[in-house]
Amino acid sequence: MSEETWHGIPRSKIPWYPTIDYKKCVSCEKCVDYCKLGAFSFDENKRPVVKKPYNCVVLCKGCQDICPSGAIFHPSRKKTVDIIRKIAKKQRIKFLLGGN
Ligand code: SF4
Ligand code: SF4
Repeated sequence: MSEETWHGIPRSKIPWYPTIDYKKCVSCEKCVDYCKLGAFSFDENKRPVVKKPYNCVVLCKGCQDICPSGAIFHPSRKKTVDIIRKIAKKQRIKFLLGGN
């Protein structure tokens, strides 16, 4: 599944997606199995990669929470919410977002 907009905002303008720290990754494949949105897949060396970053659900951190070696991280939620608010203001979109 791939959403092109999120609450009317082009998804590609929202910089929210996981990044893998390969120094910590133990290639357990849990993130690939866990994300039902298909953000991850494998590269030619069977290493997990964030193939479809914009499939990531905005503000979800599920894979980060289940990664056994702390190899996945996301941007700051607060900074992302600020970015979303700015875009929404520009586009005159109204919706509620939590504080941090
Ligand atoms: S869950 Fe973490 S350690 Fe396992 S493959 Fe994914 S990034 Fe690597
Ligand atoms: S944060 Fe959630 S939606 Fe995004 S890649 Fe991880 S499990 Fe998938």
